[in-house]
Amino acid sequence: MKLTYSKENGFNKLEKSEQDFLFEFCEEYRNYLNKAKTEREFCTESYKLLEEEGFVALETVTKLSAGDKVYSVNRGKGIFAAVIGEAPLSEGINLVGAHIDAPRLDLKPSPLYEDGGLAYFKTHYYGGIKKFQWLTIPLSIHGIIVKTDGTQIKVNIGDNEDDPVFCISDILPHLGQEQAKKPLGEAVPGELLNVILGNIEADDAEKEKVKYNVLKYLNAKYDVTEEDLLSSEIEIVPAYPARDLGFDRSMIAGYGHDDRVCAYTALRALIDAKSPEKTAVCLLVDKEEIGSMGCTGMQSRYFENVLAKICYLKENNVNDMYLRNVLSNSSCLSADVGAAFDPNFPETTERNNTPFLNHGILLTKYTGSRGKSGASDANAEFVAKIRNLFEKNGVLWQIGELGKVDAGGGGTIAQFVANLDMEVIDCGVPLLSMHSPYEIAGKIDIYMAYKGYKAFMES
Ligand code: MN
Ligand code: MN
Repeated sequence: MKLTYSKENGFNKLEKSEQDFLFEFCEEYRNYLNKAKTEREFCTESYKLLEEEGFVALETVTKLSAGDKVYSVNRGKGIFAAVIGEAPLSEGINLVGAHIDAPRLDLKPSPLYEDGGLAYFKTHYYGGIKKFQWLTIPLSIHGIIVKTDGTQIKVNIGDNEDDPVFCISDILPHLGQEQAKKPLGEAVPGELLNVILGNIEADDAEKEKVKYNVLKYLNAKYDVTEEDLLSSEIEIVPAYPARDLGFDRSMIAGYGHDDRVCAYTALRALIDAKSPEKTAVCLLVDKEEIGSMGCTGMQSRYFENVLAKICYLKENNVNDMYLRNVLSNSSCLSADVGAAFDPNFPETTERNNTPFLNHGILLTKYTGSRGKSGASDANAEFVAKIRNLFEKNGVLWQIGELGKVDAGGGGTIAQFVANLDMEVIDCGVPLLSMHSPYEIAGKIDIYMAYKGYKAFMES
C-alpha cells in the first residue's frame, strides 16, 4: 500500500501507443487553436465539427431519445452540446463546462483617430492582462461589424502570411528612463494601448488625411463607414500561431489556451464519449474573463433554458420542479486552467499544493482569494468520487491551488454552476504564463484533460 501522495511527470508512465495518440491529439488541438482566436471563431469551428460528427441543431428536433446528439448555439458566442443518455434526466446530467473567451484588446465603440500622422484604433482591454506584454508584438484584427440593416461583416486580418499585421509601439530604452522607474502595473496605462493602422494620406481629404485613408480602405474592403464601427465587436489578438515548445516538443506555446484548451478537450470528449448512461453535456460559455455576466456568460439563464427544452423533447416534461430536480442531481467539471509551478517565480507558489507541467490534469478544490473568498469549494465527497473515477480510468491527475495563500487569486464558472444546486469542481490544464499573449501548456495535461472529461461524461 502506498502511504504517501506524490506527483510525477507523466510522459514515461504511458504506453508507446498512447504516447503516439497523445502527440496526434495535441497536433489537432494546436491547429484548432490557430483557427479559433475569438469566442465567435471558436463557436463557429465547434458547431462545424459537431455537425461533421453527426450532431444536429436542437431547433430542428421535435423529439429526443437515448443516443441522440444535439447542439444549440448561444448568439454565436457559446455552445450547448449534448449526447442524450439512457437514464431519465431526473437522475442528473454530467456537465463539462469551459469558457471560450480569452483576455485581449477590444476596440472602443468609436475607435478610429489620427495623431502625429499615424492612424490608430483605441482599445479597451478585456480580462486581466499585463498591459506591457501587448506592446511590440504582431497583432491581428478579428470580429464582426453589423450594419443597421442587420448585415454582418466578418473581419479577419493579420493571421495569413500575406496579410499585414498591426502593432502597439513602445518607447526606446534610450528615452525610457522615466518609464523604467515605474512599477510594471503602471508603466503602460490602458489609454496607451493604441494600435497603429496606417501612415498614408488620402489626397481627397481636407483634414485627418491618414484616418480618412483608413476609412477609404475599410469602405472598399468591407463596405462600412466610421459609424458602422459603433455596432461592431472587433478584437485585437496576437498575430502568430501556436507552436510546439521545446526540443522534445512536450509543450505548446500560443495565445488563448485559457480556456480553449479545456473547451477543445471537453468538446472532443463529448464527441468520443461512448453511449453515456446519463445525458452528457459540453457547455462552452463566453464572458468568464469579465465575471460571467451577459446573456452569453455562465450567469445567464441560457443553460437552464436549453436544459428545460431537452426535458420537454426527451420526457415531455415542462414542469419547472422537474427541471430543478434535474439540476440538483447533476454533476459538473468546471473545465478551466490553473497556474503551474514556474521555477522562475517560486516565491508565488507553495510546492506541495501547486500543479507541475505535464504531471496530469489538475483538480482545484477551491479558487478565490484571501481566505477562499469567492470560492465554491467542492465537497470532499465529490472530490473523492472524481479521484476514484480518474484512478479507474488511467487518468493522470494532480491536485493544487492557485498560488500561495495571500499571493492573489481568481475565479471560474464553478461558483455559478454551484448556485444551480449542482456538485462542481474545477478541473483543467495547468499553464505557465497564464493570461499572457503566449501561454504554455503541457501535452500530457492536454491529453489527460480529454481523457478525464471523457471518463466523466461516460460515468
Ligand atoms: Mn479560465
Ligand atoms: Mn482566465
